[in-house]
Amino acid sequence: MRDTFSLIFAVLILALGACSIIAYRSHKTNSFSVALLTASFIPPVIGNLIIIRSTEKTLSLIGDYIYYMGMDLVMFALLKFTYDYCNIRSRIKKARYFADGLLILDIAQYLVNPFTGHAFDNEAIMVEGTPYYRLVPYLGQTFHRVVDYSILLLVIVLFIVKAKRTSRFYSERYYVIVISIIVAAVWQTFYIFSRTPIDRSMVSFGVLALLIFYFALYHRPMKLLDRMLAGIASEMSEALFFFEENGRCIWANEAGTALAGIEENDFESVPSQLFERFGDAYKSQEEYISSYVFGTGDDIKYYMMEKHSLRDEKKRLAGSFLSIRDNTEEQQKLKRKMFNATHDSLTGLYTREYLYERIHEVLAARLNTEYFVVYIDVRNFKMINDIFSNEFGDHALLTISDWIKSWMSDNCIFGRLVGASFGVCIPVSEFDPVRLEEALSPFVMDNGSINYHILIHLGVYKVVELNMEVSLMFDRANLALSTIKDEYQTHIAYYNDEIRKKVLWDQHISAQLHTAIAERQLRPYLQPIVDKNGQIVGAEALARWIHPDDGFLSPGSFIPVFEKNGMIVEVDKYMWRCACEILTRWKEKGSDLFISVNISPKDFYFVNVVEEIKKLTAEYGISPAQLRIEITETVMMSEAELRMKTLNEFRELGYVVEMDDFGSGYSSLNMLKDMPVDVLKIDMKFLSKSKDDGKAQTILQNIINLSDDLGIDSLTEGVETENQFNMLNDMGCKLFQGYYFAKPMSVEEFEEKYI
Ligand code: C2E
Ligand code: CA
Ligand code: CA
Repeated sequence: MRDTFSLIFAVLILALGACSIIAYRSHKTNSFSVALLTASFIPPVIGNLIIIRSTEKTLSLIGDYIYYMGMDLVMFALLKFTYDYCNIRSRIKKARYFADGLLILDIAQYLVNPFTGHAFDNEAIMVEGTPYYRLVPYLGQTFHRVVDYSILLLVIVLFIVKAKRTSRFYSERYYVIVISIIVAAVWQTFYIFSRTPIDRSMVSFGVLALLIFYFALYHRPMKLLDRMLAGIASEMSEALFFFEENGRCIWANEAGTALAGIEENDFESVPSQLFERFGDAYKSQEEYISSYVFGTGDDIKYYMMEKHSLRDEKKRLAGSFLSIRDNTEEQQKLKRKMFNATHDSLTGLYTREYLYERIHEVLAARLNTEYFVVYIDVRNFKMINDIFSNEFGDHALLTISDWIKSWMSDNCIFGRLVGASFGVCIPVSEFDPVRLEEALSPFVMDNGSINYHILIHLGVYKVVELNMEVSLMFDRANLALSTIKDEYQTHIAYYNDEIRKKVLWDQHISAQLHTAIAERQLRPYLQPIVDKNGQIVGAEALARWIHPDDGFLSPGSFIPVFEKNGMIVEVDKYMWRCACEILTRWKEKGSDLFISVNISPKDFYFVNVVEEIKKLTAEYGISPAQLRIEITETVMMSEAELRMKTLNEFRELGYVVEMDDFGSGYSSLNMLKDMPVDVLKIDMKFLSKSKDDGKAQTILQNIINLSDDLGIDSLTEGVETENQFNMLNDMGCKLFQGYYFAKPMSVEEFEEKYI
């Protein structure tokens, strides 16, 4: 008997020790108080082991002390554990301090017991033929029992209260412990009163410690887990359906019952309901993901259906579950995002990129429809924005986009290209130029207070190559716009091969300009200028290009190209230099004829014209009076004051400034008095435009008289007949230029004749 219990106690000690170490190292919640509790059971068990092993009084007494003081330690640890495990805070903390105080007192009274003998003693009885020292309790021992039982009672009460208060998923872990404590306590009590020699209740204490160890650290409430999962599943926004392997529905969450439209728990009817809504798909045994769309417009609904099968370890189908998610909101957000990315924020039309994409798609798909690509440009939009306000400008763009929408059918694609230009792809059969011209002349925009004529031009390109980049099609449609001459009369222009050739030509000659200058393919021709007596007084230098492949090119074929791309400044600088070279030569030969050179309005943007010309004449040692400067009235169009200053600078330096092509454009006689010029060049061709000869003569006479009054010499160019010459002479014109006297000629020819 003693041996058996010795063995059991020894095993218990080892087990408790191991559990204590494991608990200490586990770093779980409450692991320290569990470690302390399991360890605290070791001294009483050791005490008991000593007691049952000893056959001699002193050793047995030592066992007794270890046992009882050990039990105080157990009570201390049990109380600490209870507070931690049951998560007790606040007021009842005081009870614990009081209990701890009593335990210390108890230990103290044991420590004095060897001297006072008030607590206990022991007496030998014979067990299995050897002496066994049994406890003889006195008053002190009663105190010990009262303290320990009170604490035990407190612990039991705390556990029961906790178990009652907590959710029933957790109460199990409290009940198991509290029942073990009660069993151990009852067993202990039984031992105390039965006075059987060996304290078997130690075993139950050991088991209690191990139970606590397990429940506190390793027990996971599976029911709770189940319930939690079920809770999560039932509250999920997705509709969930669980099926047995034969297809019978065994559970659906709240969203599921709502979607299937079934009564709560009427899971049996789920399959038929789902069939009604989604067809057979959900029945498939395979796993799949698919999406469904129901309804249209505002009632549209999007669903995402996902089926998963569950298989056991042997891969046999155990059941399946289906999740159906209503992702209507997501889809609509996505659509909105798509819309914003593909639509212009102001007009709501397609953005350029998206327009190109859509046109590309349509052209790729419909092979037997012919299409126009139309570039719609608001010519005077900048002015609208400048003169009025940006709000009015926005309003204008909205008006235009509404107008575009109004003449578009479903077969058309349209969008905003950039700024005030729009793009359209329209079947040729739907394009009605007559109606459009009517609408555009004039296109008036009215916001209630402002009424303004918007100048809209359409450049039209007919799609021939379907694979061509859409941006290129619009480039071509845009190019067509450049052919519109009378912008208030014509509003629609078609791209044609000539335009293409013209573009190619422009590129062709632009690429060759530098070579042309270096190799002197470009050269000045000279046209004489005569006085009243027909005596030559000077010449105008006019550019000619003797092209190695294309032959003789007149300025009309290249000057406008270079004026447009700014290369004109290269031509002019070269021509000025040539004029200076020629004048140096003439000076040597004793001739004092002047040369007039042309200055393009664009030159002023690129160089300081006065400085350039000053440098040149200085370099060649030419008197400024020999080089005349021809400017056109269009230079006054922008930065008029600055230009006036420039012209005055020229005149102050001694150059003669001529106003070329007077009457061709914007200037008026009124402006003439403010113009710092020396000579007025009047072109006959502007006058001959007017059919009424008498009227033309009157105008001419007036111009000549006025310039006379202002001290400006008048020069008429384009004089072709003797009659004209005589008439102009009579009118008082001072200088003349024209085919009647001579056409422009090469420098060699000119020098041969006149120098
Ligand atoms: P422009 O400066 O008004 O030059 C006069 C133009 O009238 C010249 O044409 C000349 O050949 C032409 N012409 C002269 N007399 C008559 C006539 O009796 N009847 C007719 N029908 N025409 C006559 P061209 O040489 O073809 O030059 C055309 C235009 O090209 C010039 O007009 C000028 O604006 C520009 N241009 C020519 N050379 C240069 C240059 O070196 N630099 C710049 N910037 N422009 C130039
Ligand atoms: Ca000229
Ligand atoms: Ca002229």
